[in-house]
Amino acid sequence: MSSSPTSFFDTVCKNFDKAAAFTGHPQGLLDQIKACNSVYQFMFPVQTDEGYDVISAWRVEHSQHKLPTKGGIRFSENVNEDEVKALAALMTYKCAIVDVPFGGAKGAVKINPAKYTLEELQRITRRYTAELVKKNFIGPGIDVPAPDYGTGPREMAWIVDTYQALNPSSIDAAACVTGKPVSQGGIRGRKEATGRGVFYAIREVCSVAEDMKALGLSTGLDGKRVIVQGLGNVGYHAAKFIQEGGGIIVGLAEYEGAIYNPKGLDLEAVIKHRKETRSIRNFPGATTLDSNRAALEMECDILVPAALENQLTEENAPRIKARIIAEGANGPTTAEAEDILLKKGIMIIPDMYANAGGVTVSYFEWLKNLQHVRMGRMGRRFTERSMGQVIDVIEKATGKKITDQQKALLVRGPDEEDLVNSGLEDTMILAYHEIRSIWKQTKGIDLRTAAFISAVNKIATSYIELGIFP
Ligand code: NAD
Repeated sequence: MSSSPTSFFDTVCKNFDKAAAFTGHPQGLLDQIKACNSVYQFMFPVQTDEGYDVISAWRVEHSQHKLPTKGGIRFSENVNEDEVKALAALMTYKCAIVDVPFGGAKGAVKINPAKYTLEELQRITRRYTAELVKKNFIGPGIDVPAPDYGTGPREMAWIVDTYQALNPSSIDAAACVTGKPVSQGGIRGRKEATGRGVFYAIREVCSVAEDMKALGLSTGLDGKRVIVQGLGNVGYHAAKFIQEGGGIIVGLAEYEGAIYNPKGLDLEAVIKHRKETRSIRNFPGATTLDSNRAALEMECDILVPAALENQLTEENAPRIKARIIAEGANGPTTAEAEDILLKKGIMIIPDMYANAGGVTVSYFEWLKNLQHVRMGRMGRRFTERSMGQVIDVIEKATGKKITDQQKALLVRGPDEEDLVNSGLEDTMILAYHEIRSIWKQTKGIDLRTAAFISAVNKIATSYIELGIFP
């Protein structure tokens, strides 16, 4: 009889334990880091056209070693407490890995958003927010939600409006949630941030010649064949930036089906085809696969699961052909699958690093809201003027003229999006090399364990310095 599969939270804890054994911290401290600090489960009613629905919801604050806590809100009818706890824990480790000074949290509302009208969805989101306010589970210095599966800028705008209405004197109220529309205090570049971060992570991994050689791949992203599962926020943007960065998208999977073309797929053309036909299936020139999961098993160099958890399992792991798996989604690989994939020599870029771009740029949005000023607003023109003066001096000294086109490129001061993308790129590059050096220095571990070691050490230092542990 086969044993029941490990739960998502148990998988996260198992990975934590594997890494913790390399850290040498006392067991009590490790237990404190691993535990979910606060789990708030609640029910609330919502009036619909047919009567009332009583809805289950959660907010889990995994670790308050740094405040506020931070994590997305998921709208899904398949969500459960174990999943919210696992996702909250991953947020704690993710923030530590990319040096974002937050604890981890996650929220969920157990609904299928497609079954509700726009008015009903707004009522649900506002009521959920009010319940969080009542119990002090939201606030710029307490707990700051963000979008996740099934939610986006629209829901974040409803949340900030509800919070502001209930906290009319709070000057920092806009910082109670991130991922807002730009016109509501959001930041340019947040929408694309997670997918862009996945791209930076892959590009950085592929730039290390020694590691690529070990995988039997050439150095660099150029020409690498990539399959992406999920064309939502993370998957679409990851695919877009990978394609722009020289990767070839050979396969795409959505819930309605999957397509494959070894010569490459034009992402925007696939998106257009999906809009017109409501499906990616039957995209001209591509093979439509029998099932959407079949795409995961097709020939490629890099596989990006960017839809939802538990996609690579004990069942399909033996047939995976990719050499690199970049986890855009949270928890796409089960513990059982991971063992098989690592034995096959596949490199897994773990979710808590690969998809940390979203929380990194959320952090920038939170800073912008507390500063009450758009990044770049104070310095852009000054930079442009200073650079213009430098060019004048160079022209005079050399007697040579720089073309207007070259001048425009050289003097351009950074705007908000430039600064956000630069901060994100720097974060992803630095974090990767931090993890990689632990991976290389610790015998017999994989990249996920290295990422956990990095996170556990940083959180442990925080607890020790705060005097909570000796
Ligand atoms: P999303 O709702 O925008 O997109 C998910 C996509 O996956 C949808 O297009 C959906 O149709 C598709 N999908 C669902 N089931 C599928 C299946 N069986 N096969 C193929 N496709 C399927 O959600 P998102 O924000 O892109 O989040 C995706 C994952 O990334 C989640 O695990 C989420 O926790 C994680 N994540 C998101 C962010 C963020 O900033 N949005 C940040 C970090 C991690």
